[in-house]
Amino acid sequence: QETLLEVRNLKMHFPVKAGIIQRTVGHVKAVDDISFTVKKGETLGIVGESGCGKSTMGRTLIRLYEPTDGSVLFGGTDITKLPEKELRPLIRRKIQMIFQDPYASLNPRKSLGNLLNEPMKVHGLYGNQKERDEKIKELLEVVGLHSSAINHYPHEFSGGQRQRIGIARSLVLNPELIIADEAVSALDVSIQAQIINLLEDLQEEFNLTYIFISHDLSVVRHIADRVGVMYLGKMAELADKDDLYKEPLHPYTQALLSAVPAIRSKGAKNRERIVLKGDIPSAVNQPSGCVFHTRCPMKMKVCETVPPQFQEARPGHFVACHLYD
Ligand code: SF4
Ligand code: MG
Repeated sequence: QETLLEVRNLKMHFPVKAGIIQRTVGHVKAVDDISFTVKKGETLGIVGESGCGKSTMGRTLIRLYEPTDGSVLFGGTDITKLPEKELRPLIRRKIQMIFQDPYASLNPRKSLGNLLNEPMKVHGLYGNQKERDEKIKELLEVVGLHSSAINHYPHEFSGGQRQRIGIARSLVLNPELIIADEAVSALDVSIQAQIINLLEDLQEEFNLTYIFISHDLSVVRHIADRVGVMYLGKMAELADKDDLYKEPLHPYTQALLSAVPAIRSKGAKNRERIVLKGDIPSAVNQPSGCVFHTRCPMKMKVCETVPPQFQEARPGHFVACHLYD
């Protein structure tokens, strides 16, 4: 399978400033040396608790934040080095994001026709307004709305419908990759299922690749082909979905999965609930060695000082933990 996106040693460190002269006193390592690939047509799930850096990573991939270091190859081109002018026809068009709250990004004074027309106009797609209107109506139907919605305004729609509008808008530029950040987290469970089914249908129809970011392990289990688990800006583990959910290797993944009863009962090896001690440490003063060592039930001496390498412990199954050295 062809690689669409390759992320190499990506870092996004934000300076922390203090005092009257706003001296830099440290860095939040929101994304810290992460590497992975995404294959064309697959869905890569990214899970982790809030504050683990998964949203920042999604935004850094499309340069809503300028990465501190590392590279992001999209179809072979390193997009971290491209000037904004060259970024637009490539990344601003071929990679789209869907957010948790589509309403926040939909201008309430604009009809759906206007909202969906804007990006097409900016990118100079389709010959004229009539063609663009046809495309908009077609897309509204594709996402399960009526084509007459083109004349309506965002506030006239329910939460689930608004997410459909957000999805339609992400499709107007014929993207190849869609990064969905907690795209169904604000919705009722029954609506979540509808939106996930829609995303799966669209993936088939338009040959889309997804990065699906969510704190919800059950939702990710449903939609993803492979899953990466983040903790404190690091990728702790990455594997095929079935391997990860049935046989998690990293103690953090084991604990996360053990906290979800529906997953525990579905044949995961470790059936006991693992309760982690302590809170997630501050991202400013990260623990030395393995960033998880302050909470890890399996901690060894070496974990306090030596950061574990992110390595392939089994075919296609990557983990950052000294237990697998
Ligand atoms: Fe736990 Fe050590 Fe593995 Fe970190 S490296 S997850 S502290 S066993
Ligand atoms: Mg799929």
